[in-house]
Amino acid sequence: MPKTVSLNTKCPHCGKSFMDEEFKLHDVASIKLNIETASNRGTIRLCSTYGCYDHVCDFDLKESEIAKFYCPHCNKELVCKDNCETCDAPMIPLTLKLGGKVFICSRHGCSNHFVAFEDLATEVRKFYHEYGF
Ligand SMILES: [Zn+2]
Ligand SMILES: [Zn+2]
Ligand SMILES: [Zn+2]
Repeated sequence: MPKTVSLNTKCPHCGKSFMDEEFKLHDVASIKLNIETASNRGTIRLCSTYGCYDHVCDFDLKESEIAKFYCPHCNKELVCKDNCETCDAPMIPLTLKLGGKVFICSRHGCSNHFVAFEDLATEVRKFYHEYGF
């Protein structure tokens, strides 16, 4: 069995944790964000297991719909300058507690996401130490 990695994320603006211990997905704390589409606004919880795309949203997301994501603490929008390499929708940046960021695609149904480290050497070392790859 490969070890699964649970990403501990926080807001790039206010630094508060996105992790919701009360609402677990696949036995790990979910990532709680506010979500807005053309027709709805609500809360979404993403599975924090890296490589898993499961999520629970309190309204129905349409296939291929692009959503906007906001911090549930400071309400600032989570945006970055990069677009998805697969579908060209905006990517959503989530800061990792260990340093670096994970980017997820804002288009429902697109499974593109990747982890990026700003200080590669030390952050990758911390990451490997924490998750024991
Ligand atoms: Zn915030
Ligand atoms: Zn999962
Ligand atoms: Zn995409």
